[in-house]
Amino acid sequence: MTQYDYDLFVIGGGSGGVRAGRMVSSLGHRVGIAEEYRYGGTCVIRGCVPKKLMVYASKFSDQFEDCRGFGWDVGNTTFDWNYLIDAKDKELERLEGLYRKGLDNAGVDIFNSRAEFKDAHSVYLVAEDKIVTAEKIMVAVGGTPNRQSDMLGSEFCITSDEVFDLKKLPQKITISGGGYIAVEFAGIFAGLGVDTTLAYRGSEILKNFDKDLRTLLMDSLQKRGVNLRLNTEINQVDKNSDGTLRVEDKGGNHWIADQVMLATGRLPVTKGLGLELAGVEMDTRGYIKVDDYSKSNVDNIWAVGDVTNRVQLTPVAIHESMCFISTEYKGEPQKPDHELIATAVFSQPEIGTVGLSEEDAVKKYEHVEVYRAEFRPMRNTLSGRDEKMLMKLIVDGASKRVIGAHIMGDDAGEMAQLIAISMKMGATKTDFDNTMAVHPTASEELVTMYAPSYEFRHGERVE
Ligand code: NDP
Repeated sequence: MTQYDYDLFVIGGGSGGVRAGRMVSSLGHRVGIAEEYRYGGTCVIRGCVPKKLMVYASKFSDQFEDCRGFGWDVGNTTFDWNYLIDAKDKELERLEGLYRKGLDNAGVDIFNSRAEFKDAHSVYLVAEDKIVTAEKIMVAVGGTPNRQSDMLGSEFCITSDEVFDLKKLPQKITISGGGYIAVEFAGIFAGLGVDTTLAYRGSEILKNFDKDLRTLLMDSLQKRGVNLRLNTEINQVDKNSDGTLRVEDKGGNHWIADQVMLATGRLPVTKGLGLELAGVEMDTRGYIKVDDYSKSNVDNIWAVGDVTNRVQLTPVAIHESMCFISTEYKGEPQKPDHELIATAVFSQPEIGTVGLSEEDAVKKYEHVEVYRAEFRPMRNTLSGRDEKMLMKLIVDGASKRVIGAHIMGDDAGEMAQLIAISMKMGATKTDFDNTMAVHPTASEELVTMYAPSYEFRHGERVE
């Protein structure tokens, strides 16, 4: 009999933590898990899932417009925000139930409580007022929105934590940021008919994405009525007597909004977790430092997901957990593989991307070939929608390997998932050329771009 209550104790009931708890328990170990808010974590409760439901809701406005070109007349349409929120809440409840059920069926002890370290093997469960001990502990507490508390009036602003539960749909919203969350919500609110301003401190949104995606998305956002304020950093937000908000930027410009949403990155939630009592090292921003196997500097403590400063994506957290299980419980050491991670941005139009941007490829490879097609997708011919689709492949000229794929348009995320498989297998441009097209689809462009649009040699562009 071991001296501990549990073989593994997991702190945090999000994607990474739940996967670890469920799988380790089903392998016959004694597992406990604690979550202070709701099981499912950021992704299920206030991230990917409700966001995607809202993206679907917002896209109907396009469809109502587009259908006229195909002979439909749907008459007047109205949108009921509270109906959507209620429907979304019911779905989240169902999903949260599934997460709990999965843990329960696997025999995990589920605690609805905040958990704080007392030492490397002991955790205090606040709601239970008791200490439990474990041989191994996994920290999977995730992140929280950067609330920019040093900004004047930040208390009047919302973040992605609050946006899913607004009591009413704002008439005018300002979103601060130029990353995933900012551009996704700009599309959502614009699609729902809200007067939407996107304020970004840089000159082009989506830093680190391929330049074509950045410029095309900015163009599309503007065509969809989003007021894009670039090189704009919000300095101060004040509440007017009528309840509206006065937003002021660092250049002294000001404007009015009903809601200001800060989408300016996320921070790890390690404060008050007692990590110092366990001797766990963090970096200056509070992320837990881990080795290649997600192990912290303390031999029996691991961390996965957004609490580590790696890649903040749900499937990555799950993968890190699976590697931990393989290494620690199956005797098959496995390091998480963070190479070639496909990702989607559910902006409107959607982005799907995997591998290197053109700019990064040119820095890394001597000879780079770029295959690029920008075209009007078939659906937009009859609908009359003035929006192009982009397909772009980046190829290492020496090996002919496809090292980057960037897609913008309907279902770009779905395409990125599939193309990532071939890229992970090391597919070359010739493999793409040898693949028969599926016709008529948009994605057939990916296998029919025979000649490079342009190339780079030693960083210099040659046509
Ligand atoms: P991102 O890191 O994507 O973007 C943060 C944005 O905020 C950047 O544009 C950044 O500017 C800006 N910013 C940061 N600090 C400040 C500041 N002090 N003042 C003004 N602007 C600032 O973070 P998000 O919050 O959008 O999303 C968090 C993470 O969640 C993402 O990185 C992603 O990994 C994940 N996510 C994934 C999604 C998906 O897979 N579809 C959807 C949503 C989130 P700059 O560019 O100049 O640094």
